[in-house]
Amino acid sequence: MSTTAVSANESAAEYSNPIFKELDFPQDPNNLYHQTVETMLHAADIIDLKHRVKIILAQPKNEVMVHFPVRMDDGHHRLFKGYRVQHNNALGPYKGGIRFHHDVHLDDVKSLALLMTMKCSLVRVPFGGGKGGVKVNPREHSAREMERITRRFCSAIMNIIGPEYDIPAPDVGTSAQNMAWFADTYMMSNEGKAANDGLRVVTGKPVEFGGSLGRTKATGQGVVDTLVELLPEVGLETKGMRVSLLGYGNVGSWAGRILHDMDAKIVAVADHTGAIRDDKGLDAHRLAEHCEKHGGVAGFAGDAITTDEFYQTQVDVLIPAALEQMITDREAAMINAKIIAEGANAPCTPEGDRVLSERGIEVIPAILANAGGVAVSYFEWVQNKTSSYWDIEQVDRELNRHMVMAARRTVVARQKYGVDLRTAAYIAALDHIGKAYSVRGIFP
Ligand code: NAD
Repeated sequence: MSTTAVSANESAAEYSNPIFKELDFPQDPNNLYHQTVETMLHAADIIDLKHRVKIILAQPKNEVMVHFPVRMDDGHHRLFKGYRVQHNNALGPYKGGIRFHHDVHLDDVKSLALLMTMKCSLVRVPFGGGKGGVKVNPREHSAREMERITRRFCSAIMNIIGPEYDIPAPDVGTSAQNMAWFADTYMMSNEGKAANDGLRVVTGKPVEFGGSLGRTKATGQGVVDTLVELLPEVGLETKGMRVSLLGYGNVGSWAGRILHDMDAKIVAVADHTGAIRDDKGLDAHRLAEHCEKHGGVAGFAGDAITTDEFYQTQVDVLIPAALEQMITDREAAMINAKIIAEGANAPCTPEGDRVLSERGIEVIPAILANAGGVAVSYFEWVQNKTSSYWDIEQVDRELNRHMVMAARRTVVARQKYGVDLRTAAYIAALDHIGKAYSVRGIFP
């Protein structure tokens, strides 16, 4: 670069926050990590969070990238790329899911890891934030290939994870089965050292192999618990409430089934295979079975509609439960809902958020709405550590308590600072982390 020319990156005025310049962030407002840090710093500035905590939280502590070969069923080998990002462990071991998706990038994983730090702090589970991913399309591989990919990825990152240090879990494209292979690989490789204790290296395991009752539905259940707590704020009740869901995988289908059982009406659902609508209400349980069997919502009863028609459907609640950055200003302008509960992580872009706010549509942010998964992951970890099993009533009761308290913390912050729910949730999370750093200090 020329020494005389002043690049865009050198002009402080170009940066939305001086921390970006100080840390030499590339100027890319469409980048998910940039957006996530910006949201966090906005809340941090409002509460005058110490500068040292802001710069620590603006970058992950560790970013690990691995490449590993796996034998395919036809005998040839393919090389895969994987990531594990450890964002922050001020409050406890790193915690966060592993995503298997063909479009996973380091910056996405960094964003999701930061969100985990915020989430754990907001719901007060003693974990920090981490996230992992492998660039792979699970739909293109047999179960045997997926097992080898999972085991080999576990082996590739084994030295940087552990039951007291960094504890993965399922995310998009991974399930309890992947976690069972992961735990088994870790335990077999650490026999004598970790033995049974190694079970705790991942959560979201099958119940037969150290998993917790209620973990599979936990994130969807947490979305519903949060909604129920906050619905009176927008004058709604679950009975007869019209709901649409974007994504009908783990989070979406459980939120849908639980709301269906509470007499809400699921009127529209969209996923990667298409979109459907039924004004009288779709059978959420049968739809889940259909998706299990056919891989998506396409072909289920109801009218097949376009994605735009899906967003335009008049509902009380829209639950995005698919991927990041799906609701831009374009989708936000079409949405016909009173409240959005973010089951997915970062489903709204900042521009989308701005349009929703202008249109008076309330958004329950992901770090609050979808924190149920990590709450029950924590319960699973505790059960494994104490060799005990909780019944489903205990899991649901504790989950509800964590979600309701987190929702109340958010509402209190909103009232105190006069901000939107997203900023309020970050404030409640950052305040807790800030206090931890105040008493811990910064080593040495
Ligand atoms: P999943 O793989 O079970 O389901 C993903 C859903 O998204 C599927 O229905 C899929 O069809 C849909 N989808 C994918 N691409 C799409 C597209 N282009 N358009 C429309 N739909 C599309 O994943 P999941 O575990 O349910 O996770 C969903 C979201 O929730 C992710 O953002 C994830 O990070 C977040 N989340 C999950 C958990 C958990 O416990 N599983 C916890 C917290 C947050």
